[in-house]
Amino acid sequence: AKRLGGDHIEIFKPTMRTARTDHLLVEGELRRALERDEIQLVYQPVVRLEDRTIAGFEALLRWNHSRYGRRPPAEFISIAEETGLIVDFGQFALERAARQLSLWQRRLPVDPPLFMTVNVSAKQFVRQDLVQDVKSVISRALVAHNSLKLEITESVVMENPEHAERILEKLRDLGVGLALDDFGTGHSSLAYLQRFPFDTLKIDKSFVRPQARGQRSALLRSIIQMGKDLELDIVAEGAETDSDAVELFHLGCPYAQGYAFGEPMNVEQAERLLGIATET
Ligand code: C2E
Ligand code: CA
Ligand code: CA
Ligand code: CA
Repeated sequence: AKRLGGDHIEIFKPTMRTARTDHLLVEGELRRALERDEIQLVYQPVVRLEDRTIAGFEALLRWNHSRYGRRPPAEFISIAEETGLIVDFGQFALERAARQLSLWQRRLPVDPPLFMTVNVSAKQFVRQDLVQDVKSVISRALVAHNSLKLEITESVVMENPEHAERILEKLRDLGVGLALDDFGTGHSSLAYLQRFPFDTLKIDKSFVRPQARGQRSALLRSIIQMGKDLELDIVAEGAETDSDAVELFHLGCPYAQGYAFGEPMNVEQAERLLGIATET
């Protein structure tokens, strides 16, 4: 073989892939993932802190890769956003989650009904057809009023507040719930966000699991109080331990989500948790 001098030889090692080629490989695989049935949803329980019963679930995407197993969104969501594939994934999540919720509500008729939340990406949110897509999904799925909820991050809303306000009002009028996701990670205030028709506030896990724990209670208490003043349902994310859950309850937080109550799980596991598992 021809000898290459110095540093140049490195370029030809197959292991020396650049970030760019990695990105292209993932993009190609991601494009086929939906049709190959590799895109799935997992469900994480949201719990009422007063009695630790399950109030609902958040639907979260996973990529069940043929070689690498079940991959978390951190490994593919940003590529899906850049390529626009997130729109198809989001539509898939919306349909699948609504259908699952409808099944669970029929098998577990509780009052208030079980809810399901679905994440909406920035790309989906600026598209003209989101309202129409949501409308057709809920007309097909037959779910209880306001029990299907969309999670929209503070940053998506703040990118174009006027547009956001119009879209959110249309969505609310359709009878879907609206949760403000990752609250506290952006630069907006809750008082400002009051003008949007959100019914639920999701406190970002960085407040529950802060780097430095010193100010935790004071900060959480004031966010929870403000959420209550604005008559929002409040869900704290990232409750990892029982003591997190106990503290959140004492601070007046009605709902929490986190490893303390269950990691994102498949349908069978969720049904076991709900007590509606069918014997096989
Ligand atoms: P998110 O919407 O903030 O979702 C909550 C994330 O926190 C989930 O990560 C969940 O597994 C994780 N989590 C739950 N409990 C705990 C806990 O106790 N401690 C800690 N440290 N983390 C906890 P996941 O499933 O990896 O999703 C990451 C992000 O990917 C989501 O953050 C969301 O932004 C995005 N994502 C997931 N599914 C979808 C989707 O269908 N559409 C869109 N647009 N984005 C999605
Ligand atoms: Ca979310
Ligand atoms: Ca969140
Ligand atoms: Ca997040």
